[in-house]
Amino acid sequence: MSDEPGLTPATVAVTAGRPPHDPDQPLNVPITMASTYVAAGDLEYGRYANPTWTAFEDTLGALEGGRCLAFSTGMAAVLTVLDLVGLGAKVVLPRHSYQGSLMAVADLESRGRITSELVDIEDTAAVVAACQDAALVWIESPTNPALEVADIPAIVAAAHEAGAVVVVDNTFATPLLQQPLTLGADIVVHSATKYIAGHSDALLGALVTADDELHAVLLGRRSLTGNTPGTLEAWLALRGLRTLHLRVERAQANAQALLPRLEAHPAIAEVRYPGFGGIVAIVLAEGELAADLLVRKTKLWVHATSLGGVESTFERRRRWKSESPSIPVGLVRMSVGIEDVEDLWTDLVTALDTLTNAG
Ligand SMILES: *Cc1c(COP(=O)(O)O)cnc(C)c1O
Repeated sequence: MSDEPGLTPATVAVTAGRPPHDPDQPLNVPITMASTYVAAGDLEYGRYANPTWTAFEDTLGALEGGRCLAFSTGMAAVLTVLDLVGLGAKVVLPRHSYQGSLMAVADLESRGRITSELVDIEDTAAVVAACQDAALVWIESPTNPALEVADIPAIVAAAHEAGAVVVVDNTFATPLLQQPLTLGADIVVHSATKYIAGHSDALLGALVTADDELHAVLLGRRSLTGNTPGTLEAWLALRGLRTLHLRVERAQANAQALLPRLEAHPAIAEVRYPGFGGIVAIVLAEGELAADLLVRKTKLWVHATSLGGVESTFERRRRWKSESPSIPVGLVRMSVGIEDVEDLWTDLVTALDTLTNAG
């Protein structure tokens, strides 16, 4: 049994969510394409359940230490959680949350559904103060793309004292580098589109909770709204999960090898790194223009949004009108992939050098 306590995450990632080891059983869960099932069983209808989703959910749930539900996208999972908030109740969230989460909260607030307070998630005292009258405390750590890190246990304690539900968007850290449920959080959110699926080919979201009542509520919401995952996407994400530990390990090692070189380069004014993981943010000394030039001058690094794939990608975040104005215009978020780090550096430094030579 792969969800037995005591197994390391690498073993869980490989062995959870498998068919039983019986003769003629496939090693991998099949892609079950079904809108309905013969009656009187546990599944009944395709909007309620699917064995391929379940295999993915069992694996991610085992890694996070709770029960997982897969959703069509990360945003479907985000909106499902925000929908738990009572009419007019307050949501606390980081001012540098993922822009989609910020936009969703602003939209709900503009329609009078909820109220919100934006916080600097690294200013624990301010977050604790904001928790006092909150119904939901949203943590993203590290934040996207500012890479700020929250004191999760301290915020959880204050939020729970105020009777608030604590949610952690764990997309950047993955369950291998941070397990929010073990730190006291009530719900973990994932854009499984990113590291979990890991190959830039599928959209998927997930929620994980160790609270059976919350799980039942969230499952009920998914069944009603139909924010259900595609079967193929769930299968692809499960395929991705099998190597999550190897990919995260390599991406992190590559990122940490690049850090001192980036810091030493004259075209770069600032390097941000949360201390773990494969995402680095650099701020170009010459600002917006230099950043826009850099992302067009590389051959290996792909200019693209999103992150957490095997391939190295980067983008100037403020090219999005919806990105927070407190993110520097010359900030480039880098999702370091699993390629050879010397090849990655050669490609990058060649492009960076043209900036300083031209300037
Ligand atoms: C991408 C992302 C989301 C949204 O997920 P989608 O799968 O794109 O809907 C939510 N949170 C974070 C931190 C993300 O990076």
